[in-house]
Amino acid sequence: MKEVRVLVCDPIDEEGVRMMREAGLRVDLEPEITHEELLVRAGGYQALVVRSRTKVTRDVLEAAPGLRAVARAGVGLDNIDVEAAKDRGVTVLNSPEAPSNAVAELVIGYMLSMARMIPRADASMKRGEWIKSRLTGFEVSGKTLGVVGFGRIGYGVGKKAKCLGMRVLAYDVAMDVVRPYVDDAGADAVSLERLLSESDFVTLHVPLLPQTRHMIGREQLGKMREGSYIINASRGGVVDEEALKEALDSGMLAGAALDVFEEEPPEDMGLVGRENVVCTPHIGASTEEAQLANSTIVAEKLIRLLS
Ligand code: NAD
Repeated sequence: MKEVRVLVCDPIDEEGVRMMREAGLRVDLEPEITHEELLVRAGGYQALVVRSRTKVTRDVLEAAPGLRAVARAGVGLDNIDVEAAKDRGVTVLNSPEAPSNAVAELVIGYMLSMARMIPRADASMKRGEWIKSRLTGFEVSGKTLGVVGFGRIGYGVGKKAKCLGMRVLAYDVAMDVVRPYVDDAGADAVSLERLLSESDFVTLHVPLLPQTRHMIGREQLGKMREGSYIINASRGGVVDEEALKEALDSGMLAGAALDVFEEEPPEDMGLVGRENVVCTPHIGASTEEAQLANSTIVAEKLIRLLS
């Protein structure tokens, strides 16, 4: 039988490489390959594995007539010309399920950080202050969490929040599809309006699409409970950042937690610099477990496709 050859073009966890080799695939590792080198070498392979560094452009695909698959160890496919791959009958694989738990845990961390003012307490102690009397927080148990987008991550957040004793409201444009997950998490399916008006925390887990760009803008923020909190670990652009600044300025919102920004890294520090905004530099998927899962999930999918 003809050897099936896989070129790994970016660093991935070695476990996925081990799995592919064990399944009989011939795997070559070139984690620093340049675009020019890839154009020369791609012709000898049936599959390419990339993360975000390597760009699988139309010229790369044209240089690889024997290519059957491009696997992206991760979520976004911005670095792959998916249309060109489709034209040439090349299957594009990725691992959108890998970071779900990592992002869900980060969201729980945000809620507890905001409720107990952990970042503020830490920063004040590092400045040599002891402001105990100004750091009376609240407990998330018994509070209401609104989850907008009840897919993989939204479901994970909802389940964990239930374990913390929270009431969970769910809104999803495809409620018929996600209903079993809403029920399993013990959440209540509601309209977006109701979710916004009844939640102490609103967390966003929708993809960035033309329909979701600024889906949380001035009007929606205006419907949120006074003194509530918003969390965005989905994509910058789902929340209108100017409208968010206004809602924080007016005291309508008590705080926000943001992992993603309209511009990354953000040039405008207007949101990041606030004491009532907790920020992280797009680290939702940055756990050892999620990176391992990226590698093993694409390995499994490739083995299934190529064997
Ligand atoms: P998913 O596809 O499993 O779930 C998304 C859900 O949003 C779906 O159920 C869909 O029906 C729903 N939805 C789509 N449009 C909607 C709308 N207009 N209103 C309400 N619901 C809508 O996706 P996921 O894996 O849960 O990822 C969710 C988001 O998290 C994506 O934006 C993804 O890019 C982002 N993400 C961020 C990080 C990070 O590092 N912060 C990591 C992974 C994923």
